[in-house]
Amino acid sequence: MYDVVIIGGGPAGSTLARELPKTLKIAIIDKKIINDKNSTTSFKKCCGGLLAPDAQENLAKFGYGFPKEILVNPQIFAVETIDLKENITRFYQRSYLNFNRHYFDLWLMSLIPNNVDVIDNSRVTSLIKNKDSFLISYIENGAEKTIASKYIVGAEGANSIVRKTFFKTSIRQYIAIQKSYIAKDKTPYYICFFDNSITDCYGWINVKDDLIQLGVALPKKHSRENFDKIEDIFIKRGFPFENPIHTESCLVNRPKSLKELEIGRENIFLIGEAAGFISTSSLEGISFAMESAYRLAKSFTQSEDVYTNYRKNVRKLKLKVLKKLIKTPFIYNPFLRKLIMKSGVTSLKLYK
Ligand SMILES: Cc1cc2nc3c(=O)[nH]c(=O)nc-3n(C[C@H](O)[C@H](O)[C@H](O)COP(=O)(O)OP(=O)(O)OC[C@H]3O[C@@H](n4cnc5c(N)ncnc54)[C@H](O)[C@@H]3O)c2cc1C
Repeated sequence: MYDVVIIGGGPAGSTLARELPKTLKIAIIDKKIINDKNSTTSFKKCCGGLLAPDAQENLAKFGYGFPKEILVNPQIFAVETIDLKENITRFYQRSYLNFNRHYFDLWLMSLIPNNVDVIDNSRVTSLIKNKDSFLISYIENGAEKTIASKYIVGAEGANSIVRKTFFKTSIRQYIAIQKSYIAKDKTPYYICFFDNSITDCYGWINVKDDLIQLGVALPKKHSRENFDKIEDIFIKRGFPFENPIHTESCLVNRPKSLKELEIGRENIFLIGEAAGFISTSSLEGISFAMESAYRLAKSFTQSEDVYTNYRKNVRKLKLKVLKKLIKTPFIYNPFLRKLIMKSGVTSLKLYK
């Protein structure tokens, strides 16, 4: 019988496992294989792999730096922003770290202290609520196992089994498709593009060592066909997108309003993207994941019941999501975006 079982060992789950009081009996279950970083069979999170200043600030607050093994080439200082329909391009200065997402997730998991039972290479398949506890069933090496816990935490990202099992709160979701191709030159691309005829979200191109990635967050309907259309547009612009060597896809949550956030109730909690904590303007979610986890961990040490504490502790984070919701139309409304991009405000004037 555990005090807390965390489902999902991404940035949210591993941060929570690390920050919870050591007096609690804790287990964390994740699909990844953690002791073989180059495993070809391990689950790997589909991600753009850019660490935004907010996430850098978060790591700094925890007292962490960034091991250089996680970084990839090149580091970038600007994002080239393209409105494909209006044919406008602008460059904006940015301070992201370009990194290998899988190595980052494994590094965060390596920081989990020994008092936590780490159950890796395992997929949670069902959750049952009893009077005072939960039964959590998972598949490990083909065998079904069950553990019990007083509290459960959904930290499994957009496809949260905790959220689906216990809560009806809906949330807007997209399918992110990302393909990797051999990079033919060493141009430090970081491109972000918009095309409202294909998606009301956005797409990106970035270079990771010898690979160049094309990713798009798409409405679920016709997502494959729409990805192909984008691929064609960039092939015509001279990008080497004919022969992908790797394709990945996953769901991404993008709440339309604060009502779509779900933090849990009683002894069930949601953190990170499972709760809906993500930037609706950039899809930056790593800082939200780590911060919500920290705020839940703190809730286990305060005087009131954990749920009441967590509800109070995440108010500021909800406000941060609200700020992103307010910013979103200025980037995604085609008319406002055109005005802003045409004005050139805050954009870089290139020397060439
Ligand atoms: C394509 C794409 C690009 C993105 N790019 C960026 C970016 O560049 N920078 C940024 O800051 N954010 C980015 N985001 C958002 C960011 O990746 C997420 O918001 C962030 O990872 C959320 O962290 P999390 O820990 O809440 O969930 P996740 O990172 O999704 O972690 C969930 C974990 O749960 C595990 N899991 C899931 N289901 C189960 C199960 N049933 N049983 C056991 N384990 C399970 C998975 O193995 C995974 O490790 C991107 C998102 C997408 C989809």
